[in-house]
Amino acid sequence: MPISPENHVLISEVGPRDGLQSVPRTMATAHKLRWITALYDAGLREIEVGSFVPASYLPQMADTAEMVKHATTLPGLTVMALVPNRRGAQRALEAGVHKLSLPVSASAAHSLANVRKTREEMIEEVRAIAALRRHLAPDVGVEVGISTAFGCTLQGHVPEDEVMWLAEQCMEAGADEAGLSDTAGYANPAQVRRLFRRLRAEIGNKAGAAHMHNTRGLGLANCLAAYEEGVRTFDASLGGLGGCPYAPGASGNVVTEDLVFMFEAMGVNTGVDLPRLFAARVPLHAGLPDEPLYGMTPEAGLPKNFVRGSQHA
Ligand code: ZN
Repeated sequence: MPISPENHVLISEVGPRDGLQSVPRTMATAHKLRWITALYDAGLREIEVGSFVPASYLPQMADTAEMVKHATTLPGLTVMALVPNRRGAQRALEAGVHKLSLPVSASAAHSLANVRKTREEMIEEVRAIAALRRHLAPDVGVEVGISTAFGCTLQGHVPEDEVMWLAEQCMEAGADEAGLSDTAGYANPAQVRRLFRRLRAEIGNKAGAAHMHNTRGLGLANCLAAYEEGVRTFDASLGGLGGCPYAPGASGNVVTEDLVFMFEAMGVNTGVDLPRLFAARVPLHAGLPDEPLYGMTPEAGLPKNFVRGSQHA
């Protein structure tokens, strides 16, 4: 993602994918559609609406093509979907997505558990998907998310040199951008600054999103650290829904509501309306009434007479 002006960030909502895939129950299609509309109405302009994986593997994602069909009718919205392989990419391109997101694990152990492929095999998958995109839909973006970039529940430490090697290989294979994902919620702000600084040195403005989880309460701190290194795209999930079924205990994306509040309070423009964002919890709760929703800002409400950037001047 090219560097946005200093006071703008793009919040990429991943709840309908990262959130819902970690919830064992399946949210009904009609509820999902209402939720995506509510996220759009709040001002979110990039939404990962689902993933193209076999329905036998993640039944929660079986209606992703319907999500894409609906979301692509919303003007100005970038519609993303996760694809683990070329078959998924083919389905996503046929459905009409604007952007493909490919998870590539920095951890050798997580790669085998998550997509049953080695990292080298995944680089070849990126190459095949980039070629397919060029052939079928050259305007569609291909973003790699380097998962377990900050540590892995299966393997533990993930060497930073291997993260950089993988990012560089994915770019060479034809990806447009590569971001870093804290799949396991292991990252700390010093590490985030170090890795994103290295990533930007390695691949310049093709450095993509920061995808942080709040597993140990450091999600916002890690996003701020990434912001200070020049990152301008942040993945987040409404109500903090999310995790990874193959990284046990790694639940909870950064809460969109809290992240938007942090940036807006600082005077950094997200384009998102906070009261409308809080209202987007209603269709999510209606579709998954038993699922806990997180977030400090929606619980506490906005500060009295809240004015965007008031704590900044
Ligand atoms: Zn995630």
